[in-house]
Amino acid sequence: MNPIYTDAEKAREHLEAVVWPNGPVCPHCGLVNEATKLEGKKHRPGLYQCNAKECRLQFTATVGTVFERSKIPLNTWLYAVSLLTASKKGMSAHQLHRMIGVQYKTAWFMMHRIREAMKDGGAGLLGGEGKVVQADETYYGNTSKRAKHYKKGHSQKECIIALVEPGAKARAFHAWSGNTQKNAAMLLSKHADQKSALHTDESPIYKGLGWNFAEHLTVKHSAGEYKGTKGQHTNNAENFFGIFKRGMVGVYHKCEPQHLQRYLTEFEFRYNNRIGLGIDDAMRAERALKGITGRRLMYRRSGKTQAV
Ligand SMILES: [Zn+2]
Repeated sequence: MNPIYTDAEKAREHLEAVVWPNGPVCPHCGLVNEATKLEGKKHRPGLYQCNAKECRLQFTATVGTVFERSKIPLNTWLYAVSLLTASKKGMSAHQLHRMIGVQYKTAWFMMHRIREAMKDGGAGLLGGEGKVVQADETYYGNTSKRAKHYKKGHSQKECIIALVEPGAKARAFHAWSGNTQKNAAMLLSKHADQKSALHTDESPIYKGLGWNFAEHLTVKHSAGEYKGTKGQHTNNAENFFGIFKRGMVGVYHKCEPQHLQRYLTEFEFRYNNRIGLGIDDAMRAERALKGITGRRLMYRRSGKTQAV
């Protein structure tokens, strides 16, 4: 096993290399690679002091992040990140709790923090000139007819909309409001380049959205068609839903609607950092680590996320 998962010092060195590729960055004044490492027993591990005359403040790579105040050793965090980013279908908090030897509640908290770090912030647009964006929707939850509150119909389930640029990235959204068409319009205008060709199924959700795009081609699933006459399809979006649903059934079993977006973010992260795009397990874990530290995820005491 890699020592960064067993040794807290090695873990810190690894984290520093990932988040500071050009040397330590002072979080107070932003100065790069102008800090002195403070060694010795008097200082906590990984402490630096900024050399800027007007700053001179001290910092570590974990200042302001969930890692800083956590009682969980850094190497355990790194191991959890590697497990969650490497397993294609995800990993349950129960599994994580057994594998890394922390309490179940702690594992649950850690996983949600790691999921936060997986958000890519929706930077940039999908598609572009000569490219395709597929939009598709699926419905999740409330499927067991034996369950207490079972009701038939899409309106009783959670709507998920995925936008996928084939051969590139996906974005998946829990569409909260009842008006799916409005949601789809809003998501497409925010996340898809209008110079793209839009490919969807014949669902009324996408009617009237095509004029925003270079073209809008549909595939008639109701007629048993999976590829249109011009080669258009929504298979990439459906594949994404397939991975998501298998993971949710096999690993997470159930998820409350208020957490659905977090799980979607997790699956989206792995999809967008997949081996097919040249990203291996180690690189994927590094990207999640950058998300935790780079975004300064703070430690929260509110709600279900407790101090650990
Ligand atoms: Zn400074």
